[in-house]
Amino acid sequence: MRILIGVLGLVLLTACTDHGAQAPATTAGPPSSAIIASERDEALLAAATAEAPAALATLERLVNIETGTEDEVGMAAMSDLLEQELRARGFDVTRHPTTGGREGRASVGENIVGRLHGEGGRKLLLMAHMDTVYPRGGLAAAPFRVDDNRAYGPGIADAKSGIAVILHAVKLLEARKFTGFDTLTVLFNTDEEQGSSGSSALIGQLAGESDAIFSFEPTGVQPEGLTYGTSGIGSVIATVTGRSAHAGVAPELGANALVAAADFVQRTQDLDQGPGRLRFNWTIARAGAVRNIVPNSATLEADVRYPTNESFGPLVAEVRRLAVQPGVEGTTIDVVTDPGRPAFTADEAGRALIARARGIYDSLGHELPVAPIIGGGTDAAFAARSGKPVIEALGLPGYGYHTNDDEYVLVDAIPRRLYLAARMIMDVAQAQ
Ligand SMILES: [Zn+2]
Repeated sequence: MRILIGVLGLVLLTACTDHGAQAPATTAGPPSSAIIASERDEALLAAATAEAPAALATLERLVNIETGTEDEVGMAAMSDLLEQELRARGFDVTRHPTTGGREGRASVGENIVGRLHGEGGRKLLLMAHMDTVYPRGGLAAAPFRVDDNRAYGPGIADAKSGIAVILHAVKLLEARKFTGFDTLTVLFNTDEEQGSSGSSALIGQLAGESDAIFSFEPTGVQPEGLTYGTSGIGSVIATVTGRSAHAGVAPELGANALVAAADFVQRTQDLDQGPGRLRFNWTIARAGAVRNIVPNSATLEADVRYPTNESFGPLVAEVRRLAVQPGVEGTTIDVVTDPGRPAFTADEAGRALIARARGIYDSLGHELPVAPIIGGGTDAAFAARSGKPVIEALGLPGYGYHTNDDEYVLVDAIPRRLYLAARMIMDVAQAQ
């Protein structure tokens, strides 16, 4: 997930699969102010506070295993560690080899699934991703360290904080002997940062078997927050074919694919609808190789962010319509589109989860504002396709992910985030 601008100029950060710059997203209407009141559980808060140092120690262990999204060695070590941690908490664990890949990059490692059976109640799925955007060597350049209220390290927020919160929230439940759930299923997947092609089917299956899904991407630091939706992230690739000719002797015998591509870029500019709506931007162009040859091919790639899954189709239709008549005679334009990661929009039951989380935070004296939608996308979208309610961003408040800034999480937020996660599990598991 990525950055989001909510109402009142609030800027919320959440983690995402969205590689690259922190693009401000959207402002599509006022968020609901719904809150389900929650009574503060002093014993749970005390336990969460006492658990915080152990959670910080876990974070250090997680950060010290480098898990760049294609790092086979690191991913194997992380999978082993997490299997062990889940088994120590009484979970049955299965490993699911990652399949697939995108843009010539294979997904690596094994997705870890843990199941803990209770004595009745609902089935909950808790999920966070193991992989980070940082290639091997990032840790040496920016080792784990705690400086005042900030704990630093590559991937510490996105999403190792989510893994730590899951593991220690479960520990709090264990200490309370809370078994009021049918099943707690935990998923740690390996390839969120490259689109989850090797885990999205598994996410969909596990979500379908659950009554509610909690996703543990990080949240922002000021303020912490939630979102009613995440954008779909798709692509459009246009291939222009022309005819080459000597650029100096007889260019008129050619059909210049580069010029046709430039014309196509111009004619599709207004497909971008601006902040808060569908975003369409050409970001890559390739044409020509030799200066004195009229190029016979050109390729364009556009990044697409769509607020609802229904909005991608009409965009594709319009791009194709505009491609039918290229601006240069003798050229053709072929368009290939990929909806990529779907959009996620919280349904009524998802909004109820959000209202519940806000009430729990309210009981601690903290606010959780809700953004209408963010420009990034997360695995929440794959889970939501099951039709089951999903809540996103239950990891720690963090900053600097997907950037060159040092990534950090707020240490003093650990108790309230452990409390939030544990309380959400208890309340939703027993909800009627
Ligand atoms: Zn993430």
